[in-house]
Amino acid sequence: MVSRVPEFDQVLPKDQRSALAERHGQVLSRAAVADPGSEIKLWDCVNQSWSKPIPTYETQAIMQQMGYRCSACAFVGFGQDAREVEAHVLGPGGVFDKMVSHKGAHAIPSTDANGRNAFVCSACGTKMISPSRVEMHIDSIRNAFHAHRGRVTAQFIRLYSQFPSAPHILGETVITGDDE
Ligand SMILES: [Zn+2]
Ligand SMILES: [Zn+2]
Repeated sequence: MVSRVPEFDQVLPKDQRSALAERHGQVLSRAAVADPGSEIKLWDCVNQSWSKPIPTYETQAIMQQMGYRCSACAFVGFGQDAREVEAHVLGPGGVFDKMVSHKGAHAIPSTDANGRNAFVCSACGTKMISPSRVEMHIDSIRNAFHAHRGRVTAQFIRLYSQFPSAPHILGETVITGDDE
């Protein structure tokens, strides 16, 4: 098995990766200063990849970490509350809300802080270096919306395991769609 560090930039939409990277960072930065002779990697069940090396004395606690993940994407709430996933899908700034606010969105020419050419999203003002980047931003919002149509659940899972495995769902709360 090839080990690698999770690459959050590639896995998660921008607004989700910061919180997740921060949480992982808290765990993994402590791991970085520990004795490299007694570290192991754990399987990140959400991103389906190996973590950075973690000191063996920390692994027991990390293995206990639980969270609700969105069944439609890689979003994870760490508060052990299904309402975090509900807010991610249905709340202000969530997947559905962004779709509504980005109806008819397009790139508008602008300038960055240094006076160079830039483009902003007409819906949310996010600044990018090219019109195609703005289109990608709008596409990602549209794609996220489509991925969350139908039945979406908050799945309560253990976040790490010792061996590669699919997330083991310990509990499930329906966010949208049918109960069955
Ligand atoms: Zn989601
Ligand atoms: Zn936007």
